[in-house]
Amino acid sequence: MKILVLNCGSSSLKYQLINMENETVMAKGLCERIGIENSSFEHKNFDGQKIKKEANMKNHEDAVKIVINNLLDENFGVIKDIKEIDAVGHRVLHGGKYFSEPVLIDQKVKDAIRDCFILGPLHNPSNLIGIETCERLMPDIKQVAVFDTAFHQTMPEKAFIYALPYEYYKENNIRRYGFHGTSHKFVAMRISEILQNNNLKLITCHLGNGSSVCAIKNNKCVDTSMGLTPLEGLAMGTRCGDIDPAIIKFLAHQKNFNIDEIDNILNKKSGVLGISQVSSDFRDVEKAAQNNNYQAKLALEIFYYRCAKYIGAYAAALNGIDVIAFTAGLGENSPETREAICNYLNYLGVEIDKEKNNSRGKEVEISNQNSRVKVFVVPTNEELMIARETLNLIK
Ligand code: AMP
Repeated sequence: MKILVLNCGSSSLKYQLINMENETVMAKGLCERIGIENSSFEHKNFDGQKIKKEANMKNHEDAVKIVINNLLDENFGVIKDIKEIDAVGHRVLHGGKYFSEPVLIDQKVKDAIRDCFILGPLHNPSNLIGIETCERLMPDIKQVAVFDTAFHQTMPEKAFIYALPYEYYKENNIRRYGFHGTSHKFVAMRISEILQNNNLKLITCHLGNGSSVCAIKNNKCVDTSMGLTPLEGLAMGTRCGDIDPAIIKFLAHQKNFNIDEIDNILNKKSGVLGISQVSSDFRDVEKAAQNNNYQAKLALEIFYYRCAKYIGAYAAALNGIDVIAFTAGLGENSPETREAICNYLNYLGVEIDKEKNNSRGKEVEISNQNSRVKVFVVPTNEELMIARETLNLIK
């Protein structure tokens, strides 16, 4: 069984072809600057061959065609016939209220994805083009949609309803949805597997350029830090996370910004980038902090503190914690981040082993023997999770 996983971003397309017999990646790649000048792709196959080229891609349809050509290429391709692909799993950003599980794609599913354009205006339209292009180019191959919001659909109303007039929820679907669901689910499943226990109170921390925390009980999400959009919650690379909503009116009046300018500031110029004025990349900010840059140190301190506060809130939501798991770029690779966050959690009985924590990109338990809460690092693999979900559905 070979599954092609497609992740169409606003101007990019990431892909992997995965052999599900042994869950190995046969080929993977990235098309960038789709619809912009100088678009290009990078393709790698399992034997390490790497091809990087400029290629004209006016839209995601052109990009999907390039992906298929790459997979079939006579020199560096990994399949001889498109029919070798058994199914395509599409990452779809926003499933709104419609989807709590991955689904086989039909007209109804496509209509619902279109209905959610307003909730995911940068991603859902590209996701749908990816789906429709695959339907045209591979009409006999099953297509599956895996939603970033689906895992969070088990949240109770008290966690997902905003304290706004109720009709905005009823009429406009304004509520909390949560994101990074595929990653939180992957990590939760891995933790259950490691501990051989499906009845855990678990907090997963997906800490990357975008970051979110998720409270999980018995493998089901009960709360998460992102909301209607990915802007809510933690301070992130460039997103502000939680702020007093009155700041929007202040910025409009005092700086004369219009609503789109404010939206751009909150999404792209805030967070660790905005506070440090160094970079949105945590590696640069960590380096600047080591060189005693005051704003860089402050940005990191705010990031850690906010994350620890969410873990505290979710300890209350879950009435205790058995396990905390760190994942994604920063969660997997920054011992400093994990240690700084865990240092806030001694009151919960969290104790980490500094030596075990001194590791990057590996699955490892970092709590010590005395810790009342187990703490793990689990590298996430959203593409593999999408491929597994796709396989489960087509079987
Ligand atoms: P992601 O969004 O999951 O791809 O994570 C990307 C972020 O992870 C980058 O912006 C970096 O800030 C962070 N990151 C990756 N590797 C490291 C590292 N070795 N140390 C600190 N931060 C890292």
